[in-house]
Amino acid sequence: MPVAEFDAIILGAGAAGLLCASTAAQRGRRVLVIDHADEAGKKILISGGGRCNFTNSGTVPERFLSANPRFARSALARYTPQDFLAMVERHGIAWHEKTLGQLFCDGSARQIVAMLMDECARGEPAAFAMGQAVTDVAHRDGRFHVTLPGRAVQAPALVIATGGPSIPKMGATGFAYDLARRFGLKVVQPRPALVPLTLDDGELLFRSLSGVSAPVIASVGKTAFREAALFTHRGLSGPAILQISSYWRHGEPVAINFLPDRGEGWMRAAKRDNPRTTVGRLLGAALPDRLAEALGERLALAGELANLPDKALARAEQVLGAWRFTPNGTQGFAKAEVTAGGVSTDGLSSQTMAARALPGLHVIGEAVDVTGWLGGYNFQWAWASGWAAAQAL
Ligand SMILES: Cc1cc2nc3c(=O)[nH]c(=O)nc-3n(C[C@H](O)[C@H](O)[C@H](O)COP(=O)(O)OP(=O)(O)OC[C@H]3O[C@@H](n4cnc5c(N)ncnc54)[C@H](O)[C@@H]3O)c2cc1C
Repeated sequence: MPVAEFDAIILGAGAAGLLCASTAAQRGRRVLVIDHADEAGKKILISGGGRCNFTNSGTVPERFLSANPRFARSALARYTPQDFLAMVERHGIAWHEKTLGQLFCDGSARQIVAMLMDECARGEPAAFAMGQAVTDVAHRDGRFHVTLPGRAVQAPALVIATGGPSIPKMGATGFAYDLARRFGLKVVQPRPALVPLTLDDGELLFRSLSGVSAPVIASVGKTAFREAALFTHRGLSGPAILQISSYWRHGEPVAINFLPDRGEGWMRAAKRDNPRTTVGRLLGAALPDRLAEALGERLALAGELANLPDKALARAEQVLGAWRFTPNGTQGFAKAEVTAGGVSTDGLSSQTMAARALPGLHVIGEAVDVTGWLGGYNFQWAWASGWAAAQAL
C-alpha cells in the first residue's frame, strides 16, 4: 500500500479543522485534511439559518462551559473575533451585527466555507481526502499512521477535529472520543446542549401554547438568560431556552420570568392606578394573547383588582416572575446545536491543544470539553482552538 508523508494530518474538515489547516498551510506545513463527508464545512453551511453566525463580538471566557473554565482563556485571547472578522473583510464578505454581538453574513454561509477553502489553498496548499472513512489510526516510531481505504498516510502530528455527536444525520459522530480514549485521554460525559427542553403531559400550560413566543428570563440556579422563549408541541425552545439547556441537568427545575420588565409591586401599583381593571386585562397588555389567557386561568384571580387582596396580587407577581417547571428531558443529540462535555481538558495543553502525554496529538473544536453560548461563540472556539493548534504544527 502506498504511504504518503505529511507534516500534519487533520481529521475533520469542519470549522476547527479548516481554520487549523489554513493556518498551518500558511506556515508552510504540508497538511492533509481527512473527512468522511463528501463536502467540507457542512455544519457551517446550515449554521445561523444559512447565514452563519460566525463569531460574537462579546466573546469572553465566561461565556463558555467546561469542567475547567480557565482552559479556553489562552486560545480565545490569542485568536479573537476581530482576527476572524479581519479575514472575512479581506475576502470582501458583507456582514452585519444582528443582536447581542452576533455577527452574520449578509449573504450566505457558503461564503465562509469558500473563504476557508481559499485560505487552505495558500502557502503550502492543504491536501484534502474527502468522503474517506478512516479505518485505523496508530502511533509508532514518533509518527501517526492513518489508514484509509486503499491508502495509508503518516505524519508526526495528528489533529482530532471531528466535532461532537450533535445532529448525527449530518454525519456527526463520537469518533473523537473513541480516538482520544485510545490515546489515553479522558472524556467528560457528552450531553446535548443548546437544545429544546421537553415536558411531560402534566405541563399542560405550555403544551396549549405551541407556537407562542415571548421575551422572558429563563434561569437555572443562578444562571439566567434574557431572550425569547418559544412554546412548542413538545415543550420549550427559543434562544432563552437553548441557552439555559446547556446549564440544565436532569431533575432540576427551570424558572421563567414572564414579565422581566415589571418591577416588584407592579400589580399592586396597577390596583391603585386602575382599580376597575382585571388581572386578565393587565396580562393581556403585557403578554401575547394566548399566553396571557393561559397564565390568567392558572392564577385564577377573577374580578376587578379593587376587590383582590394585595397579598394575592403579590403572590401572583411572584408566580409570574418565577414560573417553575421541571423538564422531563431534552430533544437530544438529534436536535442539539452543540455537544457539551467531550475530550477532557485535563490532559491537554491550553496553549497548543496538544495531549500532554503525547505532544503530537491535538484535539480542537467541539470535540473538546469547551462549549459556547448560543450566538457565534461555538464557531469562535472552533477558530481559536484551531489556530492555537496550528501554531504548534
Ligand atoms: C443547526 C446548527 C446551527 C449552528 N449554528 C451556529 C452558529 O450560527 N454559530 C455558531 O457559533 N455555532 C453554530 N453551530 C455550532 C457549530 O456548527 C459547531 O460548534 C462547529 O461546527 C464545531 O466545529 P468543529 O470543527 O469542531 O466540528 P464540525 O464543524 O462538526 O466538523 C467536524 C467534521 O468532522 C467530520 N467527521 C465526523 N466524524 C468523522 C469521522 N468518523 N471520520 C471523518 N470525519 C468525521 C464531519 O463530517 C465534519 O466535517 C450550529 C450547529 C448546528 C447543528
